[in-house]
Amino acid sequence: MATLKDFRNNIKPNWCPGCGDFSIQAAIQRASANVGLEPEQLAIVSGIGCSGRISGYINAYGFHGVHGRSLPIAQGLKMANRELTVLAAGGDGDGFAIGMGHTVHAIRRNIDLTYIVMDNQIYGLTKGQTSPRSSEGFKTKSTPAGSIETALSPLEVALAAGATFVAQSFSSNLKQLTALIEAGMQHKGFAFINVFSPCVTFNKVNTYDWFKENIVDLEEIPDYDPSNRVMAMTKIMETNGLLTGLIYQNTSKTSYENLVPGFKEEGLAKQNLKISQEDFNKL
Ligand code: SF4
Ligand code: MG
Repeated sequence: MATLKDFRNNIKPNWCPGCGDFSIQAAIQRASANVGLEPEQLAIVSGIGCSGRISGYINAYGFHGVHGRSLPIAQGLKMANRELTVLAAGGDGDGFAIGMGHTVHAIRRNIDLTYIVMDNQIYGLTKGQTSPRSSEGFKTKSTPAGSIETALSPLEVALAAGATFVAQSFSSNLKQLTALIEAGMQHKGFAFINVFSPCVTFNKVNTYDWFKENIVDLEEIPDYDPSNRVMAMTKIMETNGLLTGLIYQNTSKTSYENLVPGFKEEGLAKQNLKISQEDFNKL
């Protein structure tokens, strides 16, 4: 059985020292070992951004796609090979700007995969511009007088789009983050996990200390019921989106690939294997 070290490779990440993305990498590796995966049973698809490099830093199948397109690739992979555990990862710019259309439709489609947003509330790779997650008044080179737009609330969007699994964590809380990724991998449907991942180089507002002061952990809310969608939306709004933990889960909805006629038992890849070589050559 694979252990944590089996999910490590010898590529040294070129993230800045202190970047939150290191912990997300470690949490994915731990969660993969904890749920009993072998490296060849896991595929990680990433988009573009500092976060996009993550698919190269974990010993598993990896696909570094184009900007905002990790989810179409990840969904195709899962439909083609249902035996794979598929994980998509990318930044807030990747998933909530250019990729936003894919994000909401992948959520409502409910294909069995896990999507981790490495949310640093800025564009890091391009040296610090305002992103859809930057707060009002946030000053960068692209908004020198402060952002005049409202920051997107990913958890509200996910719930409104019909998500069956919504969680949020903080890269400093490796224990919680690992447990949530494990739960997301084991969830039979689309698991959305937003992770506060501080950009220590360009975001001087949403720092580790800022998150430690402002995050509200679900454990602090008595009688919280993660199966109650109305309660989830209410608490997200009451905490200004700074709630962490497993916020919502619906285990009764059947995942997409189990509803597609003809694909209930086997994935597309297996079905294609039934095509003769001669017919395949004609495709
Ligand atoms: Fe991380 Fe920011 Fe450095 Fe990118 S620029 S590696 S997000 S700290
Ligand atoms: Mg970002």
